[in-house]
Amino acid sequence: MLESVLTHLQAHKQTHIEELKQFLRIPSVSALAQHVPDMARCAEWVAASLREAGLEHVDIMPTDGGHPVVYADWLHAPGKPTVLVYGHYDVQPADPLELWETPPFDPVIKDNKLYARGSTDDKGQVLLYIKVVEAFLKTAGSLPVNVKFCIEGEEEIASKHLPAFIEKHQERLQADTIVLSDTQMQSLGKPALMYGLRGLAGFEITVDGANSDLHSGLFGGAVQNPIHALTKLLSSFHDEEGRVAVKGFYDRVLALSDKERESFKQVAPDENKVRTDLQVSGLYGEQGYSFYEQTTSRPTLEITSVSGGFQGEGIKPIIPNRASAKIACRLVAAQQPEEIMDAVEAHIHAQSFPGVTIQLDRQLYGNPFITPIDEPVMVAAAEAYEATFGEWPVYTRSGGSIPIIEVLGRVLNAPVVLMGFGVPGENLHAPNEHFHLENWDNGTATIARYWDKLSAISFGEKV
Ligand SMILES: [Zn+2]
Repeated sequence: MLESVLTHLQAHKQTHIEELKQFLRIPSVSALAQHVPDMARCAEWVAASLREAGLEHVDIMPTDGGHPVVYADWLHAPGKPTVLVYGHYDVQPADPLELWETPPFDPVIKDNKLYARGSTDDKGQVLLYIKVVEAFLKTAGSLPVNVKFCIEGEEEIASKHLPAFIEKHQERLQADTIVLSDTQMQSLGKPALMYGLRGLAGFEITVDGANSDLHSGLFGGAVQNPIHALTKLLSSFHDEEGRVAVKGFYDRVLALSDKERESFKQVAPDENKVRTDLQVSGLYGEQGYSFYEQTTSRPTLEITSVSGGFQGEGIKPIIPNRASAKIACRLVAAQQPEEIMDAVEAHIHAQSFPGVTIQLDRQLYGNPFITPIDEPVMVAAAEAYEATFGEWPVYTRSGGSIPIIEVLGRVLNAPVVLMGFGVPGENLHAPNEHFHLENWDNGTATIARYWDKLSAISFGEKV
């Protein structure tokens, strides 16, 4: 069955690429109000494409005040797993236009690369899945697994309405596993499975002293200076080696296995080069962890801004009545943002700062995401990659945060696989975005093989 699917995909490649060009001609820029009609048109295009592929229950579903989600399913593989495909049909604005060599919404192929806004992020990668469904249904008349699609229109504006949408339509979206292609390989020909993203806890600390700024000659030395209290507090957050000194901060952090650390060595940047590129005298931080590990797999507490006192020209000798700092913690599995902020609050209360009051204002939350590399779905994905590329993928993590991925996995209680077919240097979010067309063939083949392998996995009953 797989062979005929792959042959079908090869035979219809030109038609499929022409369809991708149609998809790319719609300027579905979610951030700009002027493109609202294009967003609606693009959702219609995706719906039509899903219908054409043979999917059922195709539905353009509204979100609460945002761009719609396109849903579709094919559920005729009884006893087989259900996989939810997530992706997005919105794109980043094309500006600055003058830096594009060809118009952003007029796709052009050069050197086997397809140039257009959205080509790699994420329209090209979304269409791969639709065409794999079509190939299975046209050749075998069935799919090896049950499939659902959830293609949203707000990924580039932080998936504002999707968490509420997922909660609301939890039943309809229910799946055994989730797959998405919106990440990158290590390089052309070298596949990668990104299996971890960091979470985020952001808060502001405000230190208040007297009811107004005070004359430093009349009050200095006898009244606590909020900046002094704040700097004392801030310096207590780390030890001499840069480890976070907040009690309990590392309690839930999952240790790295040898296998993970080995894989990281293949993708880690050269630390000397990092140092010289940044023009710093040396790198810094937690002992025993590489730069790559520190920036992807270890949590941080970073003071991102400090303010207080007179910022104008010259020196104004006062004791300011307020000082504040903003802090961003990048979290790793299985830390919890609430718990981390509780720990920071306890850290503050455990110290004494006479003469001032200190407040912590919680502002940003995002849970870390991880799918352990030994999960059966991850093994199946790695095998599918290997069968296509002739090479086992490297395991990578990102230091950044894509909160919606964690939300999908948690709310639907299903492991998420990030099966990226993007290549570094494809200019996503930048002028001259493009997609390497060899990854059209590799992508469809890998997805078809992945579903074939998934069909053999038993997920058991959901609890
Ligand atoms: Zn994307």
